[in-house]
This record gives sequence, structure tokens and C-alpha cells, in this order.
Amino acid sequence: MWWGPDISGLTPLYADTAIETLRRCGITRLRAFCVAPGCTHWEWLRVEELLRRLHPGTMLVQLARRCVCRICGAHGCHVEIADPPRAGTDGYREWLETEVRKAEALLAWAYSDENRFRLGRPVP
Ligand SMILES: [Zn+2]
Repeated sequence: MWWGPDISGLTPLYADTAIETLRRCGITRLRAFCVAPGCTHWEWLRVEELLRRLHPGTMLVQLARRCVCRICGAHGCHVEIADPPRAGTDGYREWLETEVRKAEALLAWAYSDENRFRLGRPVP
């Protein structure tokens, strides 16, 4: 994971597996799997949607404990970070916009007066 400059300006920082920390790292969605025997239900969880409903410091393990399967009603699930969405799939645009914002923030930070001379060469 790349941490880089803080592009959101939000504080405080949370644990490594906190939902807000994942968002700052550019993760836009998670995958939740029901762990009840015989149930194979799973679904995507959008990080932005979770942040509207839960405390930003909520960790994945806490989220997993709160989940209830929509199919069998079992409590608890397995939650994992999903791979970035591919072009043309649900959530791709949101993920791409986040990546572009991160790249722009990195360039602004790298070319700032603070870093201008650390790079050892003049930069635009
Ligand atoms: Zn289930």
C-alpha cells in the first residue's frame, strides 16, 4: 500500500484496517461472504456507502461481526478487500476518479517548494 501525502485533509487517522484508512488508500469496495454452512451468498460493499452508515474507525473485523446474511439470516461473515473494479464494471469510475485524485496529489506534493530541491533537479 502506498501512503503518500494525505490528500483528504481528514484527521484523525485510524487503524490499518479501518474503513476510512482503506478509503484513503484508494480502496472503493469490499467483498462480504456468508460463512454459514451451505450458504454461498456474497456481495459487494461500497466503502463510501459504509462510511455514511458507520464510524470511519470501524475495522473490518467489527464490520464482519455486524453483518447479517440477506439469504439465510446468519450473523457474521468474512469481509475482505476486493480487487479494483475492471473497466466497464460497477464501481470502476469511482475507483478511477480516486486513483486520479491520488496521482494529482502526489504530483502536487512532489513539485511543491517543500520537495523541489530534494529531487536534486529543477522541476516545473
Ligand atoms: Zn447466508
